[in-house]
Amino acid sequence: MNQIKHFLLSIYTLLSIPLFAQDQAIIDQIIQEANENSQLEILGQELMDGIGPRLVGTPQMKQAHDWAVKTYAKWGISAQNEAYGIWRGWERGITHIDMIFPRIQTLKGTQLAWNPSTSKKGVTAEVVVLPMVEDSLAFAKWLPTVKGKLVMVSKLEGTGRPDYNWKEFATEASFEKMKEERAAANKAWRQNMRNTGYTSRTIHQALEEAGAVGIISSYWSKGFGVSKIFSARTKTIPTVDLELEDYSMVYRLAVRGEKPQLTIVAQSKELGEVPTFNTIAQIKGSEKPEEYVILSAHFDSWDGGTGATDNGTGSLIMMEALRILKKVYPNPKRTIMVGHWGSEEQGLNGSRAFVEDHPEIVENVQAVFNQDNGTGRVVKITGQGFLHAYDYLGRWLHQVPKDVTQHIETEFPGTPGRGGSDYASFVAAGAPAFSLSSLSWSYWNYTWHTNRDTYDKIVFDDVRNNAILTAILAYMASEDPEKTSREKSVLPLSKRSDQQLQWPTPRSPNRKGGQ
Ligand SMILES: [Zn+2]
Repeated sequence: MNQIKHFLLSIYTLLSIPLFAQDQAIIDQIIQEANENSQLEILGQELMDGIGPRLVGTPQMKQAHDWAVKTYAKWGISAQNEAYGIWRGWERGITHIDMIFPRIQTLKGTQLAWNPSTSKKGVTAEVVVLPMVEDSLAFAKWLPTVKGKLVMVSKLEGTGRPDYNWKEFATEASFEKMKEERAAANKAWRQNMRNTGYTSRTIHQALEEAGAVGIISSYWSKGFGVSKIFSARTKTIPTVDLELEDYSMVYRLAVRGEKPQLTIVAQSKELGEVPTFNTIAQIKGSEKPEEYVILSAHFDSWDGGTGATDNGTGSLIMMEALRILKKVYPNPKRTIMVGHWGSEEQGLNGSRAFVEDHPEIVENVQAVFNQDNGTGRVVKITGQGFLHAYDYLGRWLHQVPKDVTQHIETEFPGTPGRGGSDYASFVAAGAPAFSLSSLSWSYWNYTWHTNRDTYDKIVFDDVRNNAILTAILAYMASEDPEKTSREKSVLPLSKRSDQQLQWPTPRSPNRKGGQ
């Protein structure tokens, strides 16, 4: 970074280009349509409340793709689901977790994705925790004792309060003490895991093979009551995540020798292999139909919540932007396309497949705009390493009203994204693709991949702001008399290796996943 010509600028200082009256009229209409006839709230309800989470391979994912096609059709926009692979089909069922001894309490938790089903009655068993062991021999000696037991595999957290809460209320001394104790406990936990001879990933299988009847984990997201929910690693026994409060309580009871017992009902259905899709919508260009402006957001989600901010909101922005453009700019110069990618969460699979399958489109991309980091208004856009991105992005951004752009920092030329979201699939192929990066709204602690990623977290004014920004950028990119430059900047030396950084190269998607 230090070697590269790298500068931040306020977009107020960007080169001003006079705007034709027709341009201004269309921009005004975009803003008016977004503000006075917003469809965001209803789309959000249909997608998040009605369809729910969109895990690849689930019937809900397919339902969402079909819903998008139908919704576009209502607006007179052609859209289709493009199959690109297959995935293990699975459907979440009822999870119900109760402590039944030493007292009865219904616990807050859920099965992890692709969790094998229990019977309707579920499993009832005593809970044990991982022991502290000297070495793998000692662990191997303990391992058979898990037969018939439920095993807790996550560390006991010392506090369920986020750091910001400690910072606000604790004395400085007790905050420091808490952090020191936590660091020591984390270190001891990691050392003990190494002593067992397993990792926090491989230990699940070892426990299952030794006869455990269920795995209980807790992946605290460091916000009140929030867990991250990913996929199960067991083949036949249930794996459930308990929220920190309940996990800690059961853990303490087990350590105190109270022999707590739980009943876990975690139903699900295996659905064999199912196809995976991208939904592609487009308004054909009238002058240069073979050149593309692509609005991009992954459509899939993890399934602890309803995927509202990852990436329901990005999806809504792109749908709403295309709806508005169809209404006020029905004959764009270039083709304007929306890509609702599948299976981003398992490695950008949908967008990588699209890039691999459509070289003729990727070659003729005018610009890609991707949004995928929460509900917040866009606050950062970088040039992704494209040497002349400043010229055209600057020109386009200049036409966006100041109340939309005043929070945006730009950085040119920036460095090419290597992952994290779908723009990286296009950048790797040399296509000018940009991330519309959002204000966090506590994304990392509270909504990203968590059981709290739900409709109520959506900040619609910020999402509307982003729909306006995206629609105007798409309009400007479509109208630009010039094709965008793809010239790459010379990348700096890597801090780690002292070698010059290389431009990322395209990677193939996983077209047969979840097995
Ligand atoms: Zn995402």
